[in-house]
Amino acid sequence: MSQKKTSGPENNENSAMDNSSVDISIVVPLYNEKESLPHLMKGISDTLLSCGKTFEVIFVDDGSTDGSFDELQSLHKTYGAQAKALRFSRNYGKSAALNAGIDHAAGSIIITMDADLQDDPTAIPEMVAKLEEGWDVVSGWKKVRHDPIGKTLPSKVWNIFTSMLCGLKLHDFNCGFKAYRSDAAKSLDIYGDRHRYLPALAHWDGFKVTETVVPHHPRKFGKSKFGAGRMFNGAMDMITLLFLKRYLKSPMHFFGLVGLILIFAGMGVLGYFGVMWALTGLMRIRPLTVLALGSMIMGIQFISIGLIGEMITHSQQTKREFSIREILE
Ligand code: UDP
Ligand code: MG
Repeated sequence: MSQKKTSGPENNENSAMDNSSVDISIVVPLYNEKESLPHLMKGISDTLLSCGKTFEVIFVDDGSTDGSFDELQSLHKTYGAQAKALRFSRNYGKSAALNAGIDHAAGSIIITMDADLQDDPTAIPEMVAKLEEGWDVVSGWKKVRHDPIGKTLPSKVWNIFTSMLCGLKLHDFNCGFKAYRSDAAKSLDIYGDRHRYLPALAHWDGFKVTETVVPHHPRKFGKSKFGAGRMFNGAMDMITLLFLKRYLKSPMHFFGLVGLILIFAGMGVLGYFGVMWALTGLMRIRPLTVLALGSMIMGIQFISIGLIGEMITHSQQTKREFSIREILE
């Protein structure tokens, strides 16, 4: 992925700000959101200046084709280092954009928010206050939501399921508006469509996750970038995620178990026919016999897949599998 840092005149009072002095980094993934950008930047700037925080906004242009990046260049000219921008060479998706933005964030607090003005920057101080209370991740909850019913209703059901499956009770996993302690955000592996489950990933890594109600506005400009396919993709991702979370390091525990169940089921049925044969001298090939043989063959295949999985896992042992909360040296 190609990234290009902008450079331009730094002409406002905070622009000389060096990265190490940034309190809050705001990461904004965007895809064709040209009209919203200046309003969003002004809203963020007004809120954060009024509470005396130093900040940087990192806009990540996810391959926009509507001239969003020209707008970002102009914002960079006006706001200097407070308005930074990364530009992807093409549209990689929201997860990739969040990942890149978080990588570049220098603040000890990282906020992510959508670019379309649906998230309201005035909620930032309350989220920051929650982090200061000791939480690692504060997830926004769009309690009163200004989206079509076709979107809000499936989303409710989806959130209930996700809460049950991942063991973390939240109302709104997929809300783009979230606040993180920097180390929590940077430890997340965000790719594919994982932006829908970030609180679950953080929770699984042992970070303390809570939620706070955030105001939500209807979209003013442009249109939503996610269609009806999101529900199906979301469900599939959740299954994959649960599977990977539980069995990534020990694939044999899953494939081996299924394999053994199939083999024993097959053996049980064949054993029954074997006993009948011994007792009655009658050997009949029945559909159930064929099924039992099939079941045993499938069982062996499952075990083989598990072994291949183990070999792949062991050849990749270099990958980090823990996250450290604190170090005393
Ligand atoms: N977005 C992105 N890349 C994409 C799709 C969306 O960076 O491929 C951004 C989009 O510009 C917006 C945010 O992700 O800032 C949320 O998208 P959208 O508002 O379309 O989602 P919705 O509010 O409909 O869930
Ligand atoms: Mg939106």
